[in-house]
Amino acid sequence: MPGHDGSGRPASGQPAWHALSVPELLDTLHVDPAVGLGEEAVSRRRQEHGPNRLTPRSERHTLARLLSQFDNLFIYLLLVAATVTLLLGKWLDSAVILAVVVVIALIGFIQEGRAQRALEAVRDMLAATARVLRDGERRSVPADALVPGDVVILEAGDRVPADMRLVQMKSLQTQEAALTGESEPVDKQLEAVAADAELGERSNLVFSGTLVTAGQARGVVVAIGDATQIGRISGLLAEVETLKTPLLRRLDAFTRKLSLAILFVAVLAFSVGLLAWDRDWGEMFFAAVSIAVAAIPEGLPAVMTVTLAIGVQRMAKRNAVIRRLPAVETLGSVTIICSDKTGTLTRNEMTARTVRTAEDDIEVEGVGYRPAGLFRVAGREIEPGARPAAIALLRAGLLCNDASLHRVKDEWRPEGDPTEAALVVLACKAGLDPQQERGARMRLDAIPFAAERRYMASLNRDPSDGGTIYVKGAPERILEMCRAELRGARIAELDAAAWQHRIDEIAARGQRLLAVACKAAKPAQQTLSEDEAERDLVLLGLVGFIDPPREEAIEAVASCQRAGIRVKMITGDHMLTARAIAAELGLENPDRALRGRDLERLDDDALRIEAQQVDVFARASPEDKLRLVKALQAQGAVIAMTGDGVNDAPALKRADIGIAMGRQGTDTAREAAAMVLVDDNFASIRRAVEEGRTVYDNLKKAILFLLPTNVAEALVITIAILAGRTLPITPVQILWINMITAVTLGIALAWERAEDDIMRRPPRHADEPLLTGFMVWRICFVGALLLIGTGGLFVHGRETGSLAVARTMAVNALVMGEVFYLLNARFFHMPSWTPRGLAGNPLALWMIAACLGLQLFLTHVPFMNRLFETAPLDASQWALCTAVGLAVFVLVEIEKAIFRAGGSKLARGRTR
Ligand code: ADP
Ligand code: MG
Repeated sequence: MPGHDGSGRPASGQPAWHALSVPELLDTLHVDPAVGLGEEAVSRRRQEHGPNRLTPRSERHTLARLLSQFDNLFIYLLLVAATVTLLLGKWLDSAVILAVVVVIALIGFIQEGRAQRALEAVRDMLAATARVLRDGERRSVPADALVPGDVVILEAGDRVPADMRLVQMKSLQTQEAALTGESEPVDKQLEAVAADAELGERSNLVFSGTLVTAGQARGVVVAIGDATQIGRISGLLAEVETLKTPLLRRLDAFTRKLSLAILFVAVLAFSVGLLAWDRDWGEMFFAAVSIAVAAIPEGLPAVMTVTLAIGVQRMAKRNAVIRRLPAVETLGSVTIICSDKTGTLTRNEMTARTVRTAEDDIEVEGVGYRPAGLFRVAGREIEPGARPAAIALLRAGLLCNDASLHRVKDEWRPEGDPTEAALVVLACKAGLDPQQERGARMRLDAIPFAAERRYMASLNRDPSDGGTIYVKGAPERILEMCRAELRGARIAELDAAAWQHRIDEIAARGQRLLAVACKAAKPAQQTLSEDEAERDLVLLGLVGFIDPPREEAIEAVASCQRAGIRVKMITGDHMLTARAIAAELGLENPDRALRGRDLERLDDDALRIEAQQVDVFARASPEDKLRLVKALQAQGAVIAMTGDGVNDAPALKRADIGIAMGRQGTDTAREAAAMVLVDDNFASIRRAVEEGRTVYDNLKKAILFLLPTNVAEALVITIAILAGRTLPITPVQILWINMITAVTLGIALAWERAEDDIMRRPPRHADEPLLTGFMVWRICFVGALLLIGTGGLFVHGRETGSLAVARTMAVNALVMGEVFYLLNARFFHMPSWTPRGLAGNPLALWMIAACLGLQLFLTHVPFMNRLFETAPLDASQWALCTAVGLAVFVLVEIEKAIFRAGGSKLARGRTR
């Protein structure tokens, strides 16, 4: 038996697959293209050939990655500082600065590695699948489970999962840019070509990693994994995505400006000290370095990276997989979500409810995919087999259909398109046996359903040896293609007006509609063309399906509306169906709908106005989607748009956030998208928006938390220099504080949960600056508090003890201030003195404990005392430091309360 013997590998080497004829090929690989391989052959070949996976290229060299960490403005400044201190003979300071440089680079290295790994793990969730024929059945398997000899079914939108020789095809085109760099689609064919043909001329092969842009085909896998053409070309797959997002780039720009400002202040202080106070220039140089070191937020980049990576991980856990990192931030400013209806807003669990023939309006009972239920007309049970038009309709629906039904224990599972699976169920309810019917009327050819075509057609052999063409699709479309109708057992003239009336009636019940038609094929006809399928059909009738809205989608729509995000529905379905579902979902304006052809009539200006007001777009094509995105963007909207088809790619790319479906979507759509919904569920978009807002908040919180310390440090030193006094904190002590607090306290904010009002405030403006007015205020305010606390304790310490004690008190006062301020910083405006505010983020408490431990170490271990010029403190001195922290906490809470009381205008929107 084919496929049950042999290993699938020819005796010697790899043959030139493209030079073989189809029969030779099938013979070499021991496979029957109508049946596929058997399980046994598959497992034998898998053992021999391994999985269909590319061995990962050795990543960027670890050392290079480590070195790249030093390529950073802060680090340069620090290196200059280290050199200067060394030249001044302060080798201990120099060594500590260098150590800090190494620690920063290491932390950056480790964090970047972790972030990258987290992103890769998330990406793995998008593992590709392939449609194969095995044991005579169509199955969907992970692409890495393919073996040589597998028969794979390809359709427009698929990414080719392995190198294949085509054995059957219909106007297949692929885009081989991944391989050849050529972006024009190439036509494929079945004939053998010369053995020495170039890669581009091997037109009977399709290559792993390329995209099917049109047509359909069956191919036999000839090479997998590293043996494929793409596997042989090294480097091509090294798609290194940097961790840079618009926000991080703005942060970079910000740090450049900050560095210049720091340099300016340092030079100024240096000159003043030298000229006004007549100090030793070496000492002044050292002081200038101290200012630079103090003002640089060394830990900020690492904290930002971690925050983003954690956000991406969290979104993945909630079924939204980010493909392009900037989307994480953009999600927080989305103002309009344009969503597909079927499967995203609705459950995509179709059940046929209505069967409408020219004579009967039949109601079908039963739930889900269980093939049991009665047929009734006006409440009285009927026998569908006794109604010729009805049974012809159901049979056609079964044959012009690629879905199947599987029974797993007591549950019935659909395989393939849910609408088609529902037609299988419907036929079974009427007593038709899918296997028997499909066996008796073998399919010769087919035109698959595509959103822009809106119908599917198949050519089947009849038992009587003739042939029949079956067509099913969107009713208006089918109606145009029909010339007659089946009334009872006889063909009659088409009464288009009556059908239009029936269509509207069923659509108004919120049912998804399909019309079914047929016609006799020409004698001995073997193939089917679009032109032929679209003419002179006989209409059999209509089927109406219910597809209830998802419960969670109704909630998610409401939540989006509260968050100032408008939800619009774009569907290929009938206008009345769409409006009925829109009303159930609670869209803002379900009473008006525009159809694709209405859109065509509008010019760009009119479209802009309509696009904003209307929420329901029916019978819309992928081109309509693109026009809508553009029209809405022209009004300043930030748009998230879903899509699943091949032709949705332009709209997905154009939208601010293109969202593809993980289950139903094509590979093309997925690759054009910035985000993929694992569960195809609208509620996951809402959750992603929430996470996006949270990530942005947390990035801001990290800035709000870290910068005041730098402000305080820089000021305390600048003031000391300008006043001609001893430095209250030394540069190495400052570096210690910055490092310790950033890696412990700062990181904790990355895990911060969403604030309560996160989905009740309006979207953030896309062009909001990195530092809002509110943030600048908060940074200065807290910076000033820390400055007073630190300076105050230093002065107090000087009066009562040694310089080392005074400095140790200053250091600990600053760190205590930060410890307490971390609790403030967890919320922008919400009070932090609640149980949730104090203990809501367990990580923050652990980090505080770690930070305090390190401070005890710094203060009480003799070795650290020598290295950092610190001295042990007694209980009352510790109490004073703690009091500074407590004071900061209380004062910031008072500030928050004032903002809250100051009304919504200050506390919300712009100031956030
Ligand atoms: P939606 O936006 O609801 O996903 P589609 O583009 O999938 O819309 O479908 C549009 C119309 O095409 C449906 O209303 C239905 O009439 C028809 N249709 C959907 N699926 C199929 C199919 N598998 N075969 C034939 N016609 C279909
Ligand atoms: Mg669809």
